[in-house]
Amino acid sequence: MDTKAFKRSLHSSEHYYRKGFGHAKEVTGTLDFEYQSDLIQQIRNNGYTLQSGDVTIRLAEAFGFCWGVERAVALAYETRQQFPNERIWLTNEIIHNPSVNQNLRAMQVEFIPVNDQGQKDFSVVATEDVVILPAFGASVQEMQLLNEKGCKIMDTTCPWVSKVWNSVEKHKKANYTSIIHGKYKHEETIATSSFAGKYLVILNLQQAEYVCNYILNGGDREEFLNKFAHAHSLGFDPDIDLVRVGIANQTTMLKGETEQIGKLFERTLMRKYGPQELNNHFLSFNTICDATQERQDAMYKLVEQKLDLMVVVGGFNSSNTTQLQTISKERSIPSYHIDSAERIGPGNRIEHKKLHSCLEVLEDWLPSGPIVVGITSGASTPDKVVSDVIEKIFDIKAAKQKCSSVNVN
Ligand code: SF4
Repeated sequence: MDTKAFKRSLHSSEHYYRKGFGHAKEVTGTLDFEYQSDLIQQIRNNGYTLQSGDVTIRLAEAFGFCWGVERAVALAYETRQQFPNERIWLTNEIIHNPSVNQNLRAMQVEFIPVNDQGQKDFSVVATEDVVILPAFGASVQEMQLLNEKGCKIMDTTCPWVSKVWNSVEKHKKANYTSIIHGKYKHEETIATSSFAGKYLVILNLQQAEYVCNYILNGGDREEFLNKFAHAHSLGFDPDIDLVRVGIANQTTMLKGETEQIGKLFERTLMRKYGPQELNNHFLSFNTICDATQERQDAMYKLVEQKLDLMVVVGGFNSSNTTQLQTISKERSIPSYHIDSAERIGPGNRIEHKKLHSCLEVLEDWLPSGPIVVGITSGASTPDKVVSDVIEKIFDIKAAKQKCSSVNVN
């Protein structure tokens, strides 16, 4: 399929929207009420720190909702306002945050059902319906299907994600294989790879080293294909399709790792073909999203401080939140990834997600005495959720203090 031509024709369709409907004023009040927090503003104004009792909170200097997410949520609210009586569907979670998705459900915005095989059932969508595409986009096949149905499409895809799609289009046009640094099952990477020609999705530096070693020294083709099963385009052949490569990324991966992977491929192709030939074998555009970069940089700065523990708030399926948790784990700071304040309590208990593992319940997670708690949140997390978490921490510590003073007396 000529994906570029399809996108052009979709963008000119009268059923396709990617801007608001002029209801910004009406929805701003609701959005502020549901997602903003005075406590967080107070902490920001106070140099990103706040003390209460024996708890000192240190907040990352960049955290929470990025502008791409804010924009997507506002567009979804405007869509409801514009089409009050129509049935509205979402192809996926608008962003990876349970409270935002729950609020949309409460506004009768429904999710496309998924069958037992994990396939979305688009047969529920009627011509008169409205379908919202989430911030991390949708595959070109889904867009085509919806376009053919003639339904209205509100596309909230973040422009940073579209920028990556444009990069893989350029790779395809020049006959380069796109090396996508990302998670092959993540919705954004699924969408990006649908715009690519030949592609290979690489999760981390270790996998990149394996591929680069294959480029330089060859290897076991079957082993290669098994290792990257489900992570490459149909018919991909490592012996043929790694001669010309272009770098792309899922926008929420660790920025430093994306850069390292890009440099590794550049060095490898330079060694294989020589510096004069590099331009014929390697292509790279800067597609790292600013918001991801800022949140990760702020996290690196925060973990430089003396912290007793970290709380990382964000959806469990949120890739950028997981990257923030990875940073604090690398520093061996006790770090708890939770998706809402409901995970804290009753009492001094937390239910948190261990990195690359499952949920775990921990009793007495907040130690006695004065503590410094670092807090950050992923790009899909409203300030309100972070402030609820902070208040719970204050409450637990205040109750502990009260209890110990009663015991002493
Ligand atoms: S993290 Fe970046 S790419 Fe993702 S929605 Fe936010 S601004 Fe857009």
